[in-house]
Amino acid sequence: MTALTIISDCCYQDHDTGGDDHPENSKRLRIIDEALVMQDNFSSYSFVRPRVAERECLLAAHSESWLFRFEEAVLSGKNYIDHPDNQICFDSYDVAMLSAGAGLTAIDLLENDEAGNVFCLVRPPGHHAEAKIPFGFCFFNNCVVAARYWQQKYHKKRVLIFDFDAHHGNGIQSAFEEEANGLYISIHEHPSFSYPGTGYMDETGIGKGKGTILNVPLLPGAGDEKVKEKLEKIVLPQITKFQPDAIIVAAGFDGHKADFMSGLQYSTEMYQTFGETVKSWADTFTGGKILSILEGGYELSVLGESVTAYVDGLLGS
Ligand SMILES: [Zn+2]
Repeated sequence: MTALTIISDCCYQDHDTGGDDHPENSKRLRIIDEALVMQDNFSSYSFVRPRVAERECLLAAHSESWLFRFEEAVLSGKNYIDHPDNQICFDSYDVAMLSAGAGLTAIDLLENDEAGNVFCLVRPPGHHAEAKIPFGFCFFNNCVVAARYWQQKYHKKRVLIFDFDAHHGNGIQSAFEEEANGLYISIHEHPSFSYPGTGYMDETGIGKGKGTILNVPLLPGAGDEKVKEKLEKIVLPQITKFQPDAIIVAAGFDGHKADFMSGLQYSTEMYQTFGETVKSWADTFTGGKILSILEGGYELSVLGESVTAYVDGLLGS
């Protein structure tokens, strides 16, 4: 088994958000590819192409009315859905199905012991997408689609989704906040200052889902030391109590101090720490198995080095 399996596809470039003026553009994955190629251990990675997410897998996370509305919007030549943030082109529906399918391909590899450490380099991203509406560049919630598949096909009872994107993953929270199973932990810039305006500390779950959501908002300007303190004092105890049997990481890189999409001040090295941290959780709880799915990260001058720092952390190199 190779140390790292990367799931990606050149078709992800086909989701055209209207050119380079849109922060979520196809240059993001190209920059990441170029940075990975330069890594010393690049030749030891495995590369796998994703499958298209089956309709029933999408319907485990989204309403049928949203699927129809999304498909109709691209076929009718619309440029965006609901808000100009959510730019689309003719191919966007197909590419979004391929983005959601990467996690499914990954989970089959993990469950069949054909991979241990899988990173899905996909776009469009997913963690803002709600069951019935797109949000913040996201159309299908790739992490929720993956979690549902892990729960339903492989009967995982305690799926942890850890989200270190600079923004709160409102779509992941709303998918799980009323359920007793699962744990969603998000470290993000405080919602009073940041998109999408959710993710306050007192949002901890609803009804029987009480206690299954842990939001760790950080004030603008927070850097590595603050995050490390929160990981150790708040996040690790919660994970230890939860004892996950599957781990999904919503890996967003827009908390970097150079990234214009947040006021967080992470260094590149912080992403290595994130990689080391989630790998240590995987070694403790899931036999080393871990699924990471790309979310945000928009400043192209640091995106490549941030992703490779995360990979170095995952691999302990
Ligand atoms: Zn983000």
